[in-house]
Amino acid sequence: MRKSKLSEKEKKELVELYQKNDIKMTELCEIFKVSDDTIVRIIKKKGVSVRKTAGFCDEKNSNWKGGFSLHYAKNIAIRYFEKNECVVCGYENSTDVHHLDKNKRNNNPENLVLLCPNHHREIHVGILKTNEVVNLIKNRGVDQ
Ligand SMILES: [Zn+2]
Ligand SMILES: [Zn+2]
Repeated sequence: MRKSKLSEKEKKELVELYQKNDIKMTELCEIFKVSDDTIVRIIKKKGVSVRKTAGFCDEKNSNWKGGFSLHYAKNIAIRYFEKNECVVCGYENSTDVHHLDKNKRNNNPENLVLLCPNHHREIHVGILKTNEVVNLIKNRGVDQ
């Protein structure tokens, strides 16, 4: 994980995302590239109470067999798109897998999209709209 300090704007985004009930700690860790400790610290500093249901990032690294690990989903997406790059900007150095319906158990390739960290954050914050991304995927023409 990249050890970087988040800007005030990113911290604000993080707290806003955290307050939405459909986001898991694992996804916040993926988006902001920080550890769960850092996230909890930022949230407490902002005076927001820590949700117990959010879970922790270790889940995906431990021997936890939930069947919806992000690595697993990412491999499906890479195979499906035949490329490991952001669908929006083509950035190849670092990609995250995003579940379009926000259901991490739905690893149907059509529910998955690869995004760079910036665009991944934008889709969660709402700057980038899910239907825009869906259109990009369609125009890309994954022909089977
Ligand atoms: Zn991108
Ligand atoms: Zn996501």
